[in-house]
Amino acid sequence: MEVFELTLADLRRALRRGDLSAGEATRACLERIARLDPLLHAFLYVAAERALAEAERADRRLRAARRSADDLPPLLGVPMAVKDVLVVEGMPCTAGSKILEGFLPPFTATAVRRLQEAGAIVIGKTNTDEFAMGSSTENSAYGPTRNPWALDRVPGGSSGGSAAAVAARLVPAALGSDTGGSVRQPAAFCGLTGLKPTYGRVSRYGLIAYGSSLDCVGPLARTAEDAALLFALLAGRDPLDSTSADLPLTLPDLEAASTSRPLRGLRIGVPDEYFVAGIQPEVEAGVRAAVEALAGLGAEVCPIRLPHTEYALPVYYILAPAEASANLARYDGIRYGPRLAGASPQEVMARTRGQRFGAEVERRIMLGTYALSRGYYEAYYAQAQKVRTLIRRDFEAAFERVDLIAAPVAPTTAFPLGAHRDDPLSMYLEDIYTLPANLAGVPGLAFPVGFDDQGLPLSMQLMAAPFREDLLLLAAHAYQQVADWHRRAPRLEGGAPQN
Ligand code: GLN
Repeated sequence: MEVFELTLADLRRALRRGDLSAGEATRACLERIARLDPLLHAFLYVAAERALAEAERADRRLRAARRSADDLPPLLGVPMAVKDVLVVEGMPCTAGSKILEGFLPPFTATAVRRLQEAGAIVIGKTNTDEFAMGSSTENSAYGPTRNPWALDRVPGGSSGGSAAAVAARLVPAALGSDTGGSVRQPAAFCGLTGLKPTYGRVSRYGLIAYGSSLDCVGPLARTAEDAALLFALLAGRDPLDSTSADLPLTLPDLEAASTSRPLRGLRIGVPDEYFVAGIQPEVEAGVRAAVEALAGLGAEVCPIRLPHTEYALPVYYILAPAEASANLARYDGIRYGPRLAGASPQEVMARTRGQRFGAEVERRIMLGTYALSRGYYEAYYAQAQKVRTLIRRDFEAAFERVDLIAAPVAPTTAFPLGAHRDDPLSMYLEDIYTLPANLAGVPGLAFPVGFDDQGLPLSMQLMAAPFREDLLLLAAHAYQQVADWHRRAPRLEGGAPQN
């Protein structure tokens, strides 16, 4: 088996056993990035020398501790990628925007720091829609990322760089962020397992803010086992993020998933509202078949209602831009990135912001500013907040009856580059199934459940009550013991990629 074929869990074991060195693993990733990333454009920055130096240090520790590998940090020597909305000290961070070109952060995001403390090596920063606003990575100011399963398709977004990098086996896993679906939807489009944790479960410190009441950091991985490994390290209270929860962590007992009916006693609800006109028939069929498979593993399945689902899209596209318009006020040409010359501070700001923000970011700032302005605040922002509460209550009521909710991740499989270029609303509609979890603050997990007739990954989403990520990971892991979709890899070498 080649190094790049190893999952995170396999790689970790191989490093501990000494079958492989951190230097070899890191060089294998760098070599693949050099060869394949020109096709994909998953990376905005590759920290090759720094990664190799860290790998050398990791190898010294691994060699010294070979006999007592149990005491080693859990990810020692494992290379990973980080979405370019999480700051890493000393690595340029752009958030996919020209307004942060050349910005060198002086500190590291807590989520990244936790992985580094666990021994992980950050090998580079991945492409994203500008300020994470988008569903295709086409809104990156540095050019789009391509889907490793079909290079004329988008990888999803906004964590499309992370998803493409993991799917193409450039790195074993990566971090993303999810404000309205940006971990789950690219995971779905690229055939990966992606977790959006409960709001507050993972620190947002050092995550470039988009919609602060919605933003979550989560892992993109090849298996539920790998996602669980990363989630266990990422989760926890952080004094630097006052919204991070101080709650004990329940981790799934993944060993138990290999028993005969591991999901016995779990109730799964299927909401009618998530299977409506516009959904690609294969997407619906894939989800329904996966629900059957979960029932075969012992789960009990029943229909449920989430009656306010249809309002999630308008509510999100008021609240997220409103929060973004406030969060993005800090990019003023005075702090952070480049500064365009002007006769007064006002002119510096107006010119810098006018020329350095992309069209979608400008649209969101205008939408959000409008929704918050006097005379409109009550009609838009305040009203959206009230409906958000109704959406949250839908979930509370549902989780009194069921443990998990099964749904599609997106209405279609990966769409062609440019498909939504001239119609922002049609792009927003791609988020219809992922936004509710962010509005309600509940965790969601996407994992592969098949392929459509174009050979593109199909995916399903499970959602759970707040802080029950363990149930999501258990169910997906149990599924991955009986299915092998997650083991398929796109073929990128020599000719067109295919599964
Ligand atoms: N596509 C959604 C948006 O554009 C969600 C993005 C995200 O989760 N960061 O806002």
